[in-house]
Amino acid sequence: MRTTGEGVLESSSCPECDTEIQVDSRFTKWCPACDWNVDPGGPEESRGRLETLRRTLAQRHGERLLTTMSTASTDAADGRRARRDVSGVLAYAVALLIHAVTALLTVTGIWCLVSGWGGFLMLPGAFLLLLAWALRPRLTRLPSDEDAGVVLRRPDAPELFALIDEVGV
Ligand SMILES: [Zn+2]
Repeated sequence: MRTTGEGVLESSSCPECDTEIQVDSRFTKWCPACDWNVDPGGPEESRGRLETLRRTLAQRHGERLLTTMSTASTDAADGRRARRDVSGVLAYAVALLIHAVTALLTVTGIWCLVSGWGGFLMLPGAFLLLLAWALRPRLTRLPSDEDAGVVLRRPDAPELFALIDEVGV
């Protein structure tokens, strides 16, 4: 018997295959030759239904990811393009819906103003028109990166980058 650190090392023999095994008193006894007692906890007890579902979904996602990663790059590009088409159509549908709401607000507001001229309907009419104005489509493009402003590089702002590094650790 000899000691290593806090653990006590002793020799023993495997009850399954009689191979001599080194046993560290800090750890569970196991046999590297026949894997005896490698999993002393035994099979995992049955999990809840939600956990099982979560694992199934995670596995399915992993398999799909593997398929995507391992298929040829042309296939992957095709898949990406198809996905982009779908999300593009969806984006147009959502945008159309939003603009339809704006148009509806405008028409209703004008109708309220015209039909209720001088009456109490003018107030909701004006409100709806105001709302439509706030929701109006903006036809200007988003500023490109060059127009967005000055790009700070590391030498330009060493203290700021030091702070970022500190936070990022
Ligand atoms: Zn063994």
